[in-house]
Amino acid sequence: MPLLVMKFGGTSVADLARIENAAKKVQAEVERGYDVIVIVSAMSGKTNELVGWVEQTSKLYDAREYDAVVASGENVTAGLMALRLQEMGVPARSWQGWQVPINTTSAHGSARFISIPRDNIDAKFAEGFKVAVVAGFQGLSAEGRITTLGRGGSDTTAVAFAAAFSAERCDIYTDVDGVYTTDPRVSPKARKLDKIAFEEMLELASLGAKVLQTRSVELAMRYKVRLRVLSSFDDSENNGTLVCDEEEIMESKVVSGVAFSRDEAKMTLVSVEDRPGVASAIFGPLAEAGVNVDMIVQNISEKNYGTHTGAVTDMTFSVPVNQVARAQKAMKDALDAGIVKYDELLTDTDVAKVSVVGIGMRSQVGVAAKMFAALAAENVNIKVIATSEIKISVLIDRKYMELAVQALHDAFELEKA
Ligand code: ASP
Ligand code: MG
Repeated sequence: MPLLVMKFGGTSVADLARIENAAKKVQAEVERGYDVIVIVSAMSGKTNELVGWVEQTSKLYDAREYDAVVASGENVTAGLMALRLQEMGVPARSWQGWQVPINTTSAHGSARFISIPRDNIDAKFAEGFKVAVVAGFQGLSAEGRITTLGRGGSDTTAVAFAAAFSAERCDIYTDVDGVYTTDPRVSPKARKLDKIAFEEMLELASLGAKVLQTRSVELAMRYKVRLRVLSSFDDSENNGTLVCDEEEIMESKVVSGVAFSRDEAKMTLVSVEDRPGVASAIFGPLAEAGVNVDMIVQNISEKNYGTHTGAVTDMTFSVPVNQVARAQKAMKDALDAGIVKYDELLTDTDVAKVSVVGIGMRSQVGVAAKMFAALAAENVNIKVIATSEIKISVLIDRKYMELAVQALHDAFELEKA
């Protein structure tokens, strides 16, 4: 039997009527001849509520009990979905993570998959069941405790099942009809893409396009799982974006999308010594403090004086704005401990990151020049630049973020197919 994985996010199972709407989509695929593994999220808002209950009960909560509580939202929707399908005459059975079992690491709250043995679900299909409804977001540790995968983890559950069961495709049903060239709320000219390559989706997902959990895209790329992102509230032909291998995309534009992330901060250590080991003395303590450093620039200091003899340099890096306090403390501690010397730590919390992404950049020159020209034309000052093979990112003042996104969308003509 050909097999499909269909994943329904929180808004697609938000109440009983929506569960019925989703169940009809499953029934249609069964009627087309598929066995189906359905992965469900909790009803929208449920996981937040459960997390809130845990935090109100215990400040320094036991992560095992956090998982026991927050995994429960998916158990409810899995059972209800199976019941609804049965009511419609579709033989369906629900599965919690431990029943499959979905074996994960013991990192509670951010567990990773170890294995998903097929035997139990395959045996049920062999008995004549057409649908296995699996609770997303959860698994089982070697110690026999319930684990969860981190927020948004049901996407990753879906891809992992698609890989384990060699599914023909993995359909991710959500409340938007696909992946856009940029966020339509920021640029009204944003256009839905029919196809996008794994690598591009990975960059867009990690840059803040919130359609898919980044880990799910990594996993899909590794196992070449064809993913379709589509709306469960749209019955038109045009619904959906296919995330696939770049070979499936005949002609790709140089730039496929503009991504942004609003809540960035720029930090500069002024006058650090210019000698081997300095970068390690800065970024080691930041990593230990759990600070997620993104862009890094090292420059010969304008201010080539200070407390040090010999050459000095400035080190600039970006971090998420909510990690600034942690980064400042790590740098202060490193200074006090004599691990690193600097004159000053400057922090700018009013910056945003804007990036253009496209696999076509690999074979095309002049993309950076075009990007900088478009920003210059709008008088947007660039503070930090970083590039990779398929991405160019700039840090700019947050108040210009929307303007920059629109200017880049226009410059690369992303409104045109
Ligand atoms: N319910 C979980 C969350 O809200 C997992 C998911 O929906 O992907 O994060
Ligand atoms: Mg989600």
